[in-house]
Amino acid sequence: MSGAAPETPAHELPLTLLRGVGSRVAEKLARLDLHNVQDLLFHLPLRYEDRTRITPLRAVRAGGEALVEGQIELAEIGFGRRRSLLVRIGDGTGLLTLRFFHFSGAQQSNLRSGRYIRCYGEVRHGPGMREMVHPEYQLFDAPPDPPEPRLTPVYPTTEGVHQVGLRNYIGQALDRFGASLADTLPPGFLDQHHLPALPGAVASVHRPPADADVDLLLAGRHPAQRRLALDEFLAHHLSLRRLRAARRAHPGPRIDGGGELAAAFLSRLPFALTGAQQRVIAEALADMASGKPMQRLLQGDVGAGKTVVAAIIALYAIEAGYQAAVMAPTEILAEQHYQTLSSWLLPLGVETAWLHGGLRTAPRRAARQGLASGRVALAIGTHALFQEEVRFRKLGLLVVDEQHRFGVDQRLALREKGRSDEGEPHQLIMTATPIPRTLAMTAYADLDVSLLDELPPGRLPVETVAVSELRRAQVIERVGSACAAGHQAYWVCPLIDESEQVDARAAMVTAEELQGHFPHIAIGVVHGRMSSEDKEAVVARFKAGDISLLVATTVIEVGVDVPNATLMIIENAERLGLSQLHQLRGRVGRGKARSTCVLLYHSPLSEHARERLAVLRATNDGFAIARKDLELRGPGEVLGTRQTGLQNLKVANLVRDRDLLPLVENLARRLLEDEPQWVEPLIRRWLGGQERYGKV
Ligand code: ADP
Ligand code: MG
Repeated sequence: MSGAAPETPAHELPLTLLRGVGSRVAEKLARLDLHNVQDLLFHLPLRYEDRTRITPLRAVRAGGEALVEGQIELAEIGFGRRRSLLVRIGDGTGLLTLRFFHFSGAQQSNLRSGRYIRCYGEVRHGPGMREMVHPEYQLFDAPPDPPEPRLTPVYPTTEGVHQVGLRNYIGQALDRFGASLADTLPPGFLDQHHLPALPGAVASVHRPPADADVDLLLAGRHPAQRRLALDEFLAHHLSLRRLRAARRAHPGPRIDGGGELAAAFLSRLPFALTGAQQRVIAEALADMASGKPMQRLLQGDVGAGKTVVAAIIALYAIEAGYQAAVMAPTEILAEQHYQTLSSWLLPLGVETAWLHGGLRTAPRRAARQGLASGRVALAIGTHALFQEEVRFRKLGLLVVDEQHRFGVDQRLALREKGRSDEGEPHQLIMTATPIPRTLAMTAYADLDVSLLDELPPGRLPVETVAVSELRRAQVIERVGSACAAGHQAYWVCPLIDESEQVDARAAMVTAEELQGHFPHIAIGVVHGRMSSEDKEAVVARFKAGDISLLVATTVIEVGVDVPNATLMIIENAERLGLSQLHQLRGRVGRGKARSTCVLLYHSPLSEHARERLAVLRATNDGFAIARKDLELRGPGEVLGTRQTGLQNLKVANLVRDRDLLPLVENLARRLLEDEPQWVEPLIRRWLGGQERYGKV
């Protein structure tokens, strides 16, 4: 090593410094979001290929990838369906064909018989013998030395950039600049937690040392990989914490005392609050009294009674002279909230408004005026509530229902909308997709979390059965007898096609089929191709009991509350995620009668699908289900792709590396308290230009 460290930090070194990278290659690399040497050093392998062992040709199996070597016995042009260069190699144990559809003259003359070749590729069945199509290869004039005992990294690529090229550029970047890469954590932290230094970790991940534990590397659990995962988690976590801090720099409406409206409301409510409801209400009220804007996530299983919580804290805000808004992810759910909340609040003299797409001009104008003047105290709607030209006189509280339908960005946009001289409105975000605590602390580091972990008393668990589609006729009979006995039922045809048209059709065909069986039962259909008004009209008739059987696509996934519905059939259950099935199932079991959920599946079930359906049969606990779902499908699917900003993780994996999360929290807190100068560079290193959370 020469003593003089390069003056220029890696993020200012252009890629064209590297051999082989001209402006054309640089343009292609830019498509991978690689703009400088630092970007390249942090372009980490997706996975590794094990090219440390040579497979004898006799033992090569079709379907897998293998490293093989042998001597070229024959090279000829074949004229099968497509002209190709065929190279037969042998190693004394067997033979293999290498097939090239595209080849240059130079390539052809290099691949001549007698030379030694080592190649890596996927093996498949060929016409005469097994073959490899377009393997990566190296030629030798004498029997080669054994392969290097290190794993080969495989990088994310784009068109026109090959693995070999990337490996070469990254190798150069490592050789020339890798050692001078600045660490992202203070040396004291590294020592204390026995963490490898960053430059070494980056180098090991790109070029696993010969003595590195191959199994750990392949599993993503090598110390170098874990150091980088920790860094990445930390960057995300810190950026969310920073968002939170920036938010708390603004004042929030101070809503302290009061409670007369809430008491009047409670005295009319036909049930008493659960202990959990009382606790989370107290947590929210403490936030609202603090003078800082509340930013609280309320996690509560389906049916835990989140709406009452929202109503009560809204009443506190309203009594203090503020307005409140409730935002729902779908028009149907917004309408339902409107029905529920207005029936609760109107008797108390609190005026509500429902803003939706179907409003005619006059009522729309009236609602807007009501909000602008402050006469309307509570507004309910979808996100349109905030996109349209709606103005509040004094918005003090925003409740966002079913958070998993909204992203971080939307959350931020809403905040802007409510900002006024008095500061930012309080926010309560409610979700029925609970996630484990440590995960929540990272994914929602900008939020405080409350748990509604108790169901109202007397709830009977929904009995869940999995039934093969082959027994559809019996299931239909069962629906008939439930309806004949005065109960109501859902028949869900979930969205399985990207096309709403196909899904809508599935729902309509099913409704016709069922109507054919039961001419006297009133059947309604709801699907995504209907206008909001039409959907709402059907749901309203179902709620009123005029319709006994509701056939629906997953538009009913969240929120619909019809206690008399005791049976739900879910088609194609094997194709849905656990949390989604649990949400759907939560539409029944809301009344006094025992309810059943039938998961209809197509046989044969894969082992994986069988395991998933078994989880639902075994438990009604949303937390247990979410945990299992995370394991089986990963956080992106479970939390919704846009929700957390954590879907773009490069090396870290929320499931595999979740044991790091407590350390992430600990380090984040200490960095912020003791070493704040490290925070910004760490966030920038990992989130780069994509960091949006910190912009306040
Ligand atoms: P979710 O948390 O899924 O949004 P809801 O707010 O829709 O649940 O509540 C589900 C049902 O439970 C509603 O009919 C609601 O009135 C009722 N409920 C809420 N809290 C209680 C309680 N403490 N005791 C009895 N029933 C309750
Ligand atoms: Mg709800």
